[in-house]
Amino acid sequence: MIHSSIKTISGIGDKTAEKLKKMHITVVEDLLYTLPYRYEDGTHLRDFAHADFDHNRTYRVRLLKKGNIRYLKKGLKLQQFTVTDGVDVGEIALFNMPFMDRKLRIDDVYYLYGKPKYFKGKIQFTGPKIYTEDEKKAALSITPIYPLVEGIGQGSMKKYIQNALSDVEVPSIVPAYLRKRYGLLTEDEAIRTLHRPDSMEAVNRARQSLVFSEFLCFQLALGRFDEKRGHEGFVMDHEELSDAILSGLPFELTDGQEAAWEDIKDDMASPRRMERLVQGDVGSGKTILAFLAMARAVASGYQAMMMAPTEILARQHYEDAFQLLLPLGVRVELLTGSTKPAKRREILDHFKTGACDILIGTHALFEEDIDAERIGLTVTDEQHRFGVMQRERLQEKQSKSDRLIMTATPIPRSLGIVMYGNTDISSIRTMPKGRKAVETTVIGDEGLEGAYAFIERFLQTGQQVYVVCPLIEENPDLSLHAAESVYRYFKRTRFKRYGVGLIHGQQSPEEKNAVMEAFQANDYQILISTTVIEVGVNVVNANLLFVFDADRFGLATLHQLRGRVGRGDNKAYCILHSSNRSLKSQQRLGILAQSSDGFYIAEEDMKLRGGGDFFGTRQSGIANFRVGDLFEDMDIMRYAKIESDAILKGGHLNVSEEPDLLAGVEAYEERIRGV
Ligand code: ADP
Ligand code: MG
Repeated sequence: MIHSSIKTISGIGDKTAEKLKKMHITVVEDLLYTLPYRYEDGTHLRDFAHADFDHNRTYRVRLLKKGNIRYLKKGLKLQQFTVTDGVDVGEIALFNMPFMDRKLRIDDVYYLYGKPKYFKGKIQFTGPKIYTEDEKKAALSITPIYPLVEGIGQGSMKKYIQNALSDVEVPSIVPAYLRKRYGLLTEDEAIRTLHRPDSMEAVNRARQSLVFSEFLCFQLALGRFDEKRGHEGFVMDHEELSDAILSGLPFELTDGQEAAWEDIKDDMASPRRMERLVQGDVGSGKTILAFLAMARAVASGYQAMMMAPTEILARQHYEDAFQLLLPLGVRVELLTGSTKPAKRREILDHFKTGACDILIGTHALFEEDIDAERIGLTVTDEQHRFGVMQRERLQEKQSKSDRLIMTATPIPRSLGIVMYGNTDISSIRTMPKGRKAVETTVIGDEGLEGAYAFIERFLQTGQQVYVVCPLIEENPDLSLHAAESVYRYFKRTRFKRYGVGLIHGQQSPEEKNAVMEAFQANDYQILISTTVIEVGVNVVNANLLFVFDADRFGLATLHQLRGRVGRGDNKAYCILHSSNRSLKSQQRLGILAQSSDGFYIAEEDMKLRGGGDFFGTRQSGIANFRVGDLFEDMDIMRYAKIESDAILKGGHLNVSEEPDLLAGVEAYEERIRGV
């Protein structure tokens, strides 16, 4: 059975199951969906005269000569081998593999899999995969490469999966008429192909079949949810509180804010449930709109909830809301993961009885069974951080309440349509007056000294600095700057005259809060961090952002990070460091140096990188798909939406007409609820 424990698979005992659990593999289905993240395609046999310098290929060679092992610096051992493909002579360079000296024999035939270079007039392979003649079949086939966890190698992973495949059949989900229409394999055929492919074409077709299956389930789940919830909402049209806020503000709303506020007011006043996404660049002033909308809900006799992706951000919203709303008699409370149990019960009790009007919090809000008499509005800030379905879960708490989603990540229109379905979108494209662009410079390694000197001068003005690193701890495989080592270097050596703080995602929420508060209070002048500061943090005195290895981040992330500075009246700077001098990398970072318009940056980045990377990785949180990739597979998503709409409209998703599909959608809903 596909839902049985992996321990039912031969070869998997308690110990192995423990290890696989770290990869979230617990049932047979998880194992089958542990798909190769790449393949080594050995089916293209080449000779040296037709060497492919851009791709890994297979070369059949005979060993002519073994060189001596040479000891280079730092324990690096190099051994060179001379080989021939029958016509030309080439070299193999192996680092730190002394055992190969015994394994490889003069005159024997080997298959090399790799990408050669021209070196001193010869073809040279560095660390190719080497198969013996006995392994010819494996050498000339397609080898799946799996994600692994410590203690489980490629061979074992492959064996477990093959054992699972011989035990079970994957149930079909996509109806036969759709498979025929789009030329898709059944789920079972597709899974088998991906684990044991004959050709890369077969891999593509199999992958597309599974993506379609996944996206169809996703669309049907979304559609079913919308149907269940209906369109009926509350009428919230009292303006007293929001007017009072507006007249007390030290600034006027920008045109973009004004237009979005008009949209929100219309939606809230109508008996139709509001379903609105407000997108606007970092610093465009979305928060005040959330406060206005929540005040409108309260004035109309309802309660409101606001959810932020991080504790820091939730706390900040809480403090701002508290200051703004308490004088007006509106009671605001904060609920996060670090709220003590007794306090938590008290807050929830207040919310339930109506002694609290507005509840602000983090994900913790999802986990609680929130019970309130009249939740009129839920606001989700920085939506892109959450899974789409998580937002659905929040909404279940009160199915008639209006919904406002705020994001600084511009969502391309085409994507918005498939992902948000019947969501209305307001875009704020104007920035508050007087907001100066952050002066952005891109530097290489040679510019580091100058940059440190600049930071030093900047600190002398009494302002503060953010320093962002791509890693927390040093990783010997990656020559990147790690927050912990930069922290030590800055604190002990480079900037020892200043207070240096460190913040990253592995700290507890309490630690993070303490560091943030110290930075806010200017106890630290320099804050070394990872991207945890990406969203929403607001320290007006911090006006210099320095990013190490900026090429390792998506432009969206960098743009968000840059939004942390330039929040006050002072001129703000952003220095992007990158050791990567490739043209493409320089071009990408150059976009940030030229523009401060998030929408423009998104478009340019998509042109350069084909979209996917704008949001960083697949796990960006827009939706966590097991197989599909929102950007690469956008077309498939469109078809899935068309077919899903047709199925729902026809009322065909039921046990008698589409039992397999229904089972698939229900399993899908179950699965995403669990994450
Ligand atoms: P974001 O859209 O990134 O969430 P915020 O709502 O945090 O932006 O606003 C950034 C800063 O701009 C806040 O300090 C806020 O008070 C200020 N702000 C918002 N709207 C205006 C405006 N119309 N004019 C001037 N400052 C504004
Ligand atoms: Mg914000």
